[in-house]
Amino acid sequence: MMALLPILHWPNPILLARAAPITGVTAGIRRLAEDMLATMYAAPGRGLAAPQVGVSQRMFVMDVTWKQGIPSPLVCINPEIHWRSAVTSIGAEGCLSLPGTTTHVSRPQSIRMSWHDLDGARHDARFAGFAAICAQHEYDHLDGILTLDHLTPQHRALAEAEVLA
Ligand code: ZN
Repeated sequence: MMALLPILHWPNPILLARAAPITGVTAGIRRLAEDMLATMYAAPGRGLAAPQVGVSQRMFVMDVTWKQGIPSPLVCINPEIHWRSAVTSIGAEGCLSLPGTTTHVSRPQSIRMSWHDLDGARHDARFAGFAAICAQHEYDHLDGILTLDHLTPQHRALAEAEVLA
């Protein structure tokens, strides 16, 4: 039975903490990953990190194509971004933990990221376009970083007011 998990909203302190590495894929981690995917699809969103559901561990799920009718779920355990393009671009980003606001964040256009899946297999892939934005956004959550942290003080104040409204 999959369960929908409550999504924490900023400024919950769990969202601001650096999450701990996952030391083994237990039944609890498998269950959490399933529940996070179900919660992400129901939200509806394209990425969800464990701290957003109150679990300060280094795992996120993403699926950047399901809204086009092509499901491609990824479960990323202990991800590492080990290359970032010098070229950046600015994209509009929503966040399930920052309801009511969309922020414009400058990020590298493409990245390379490695991670482990639920079977313990290691993956290494290049992400570009929206997938790169989504992966960097979710990765940030594992370090307690939100889109707000990428904004100028003025834009941050406006975004915070929108979330708290
Ligand atoms: Zn987010």
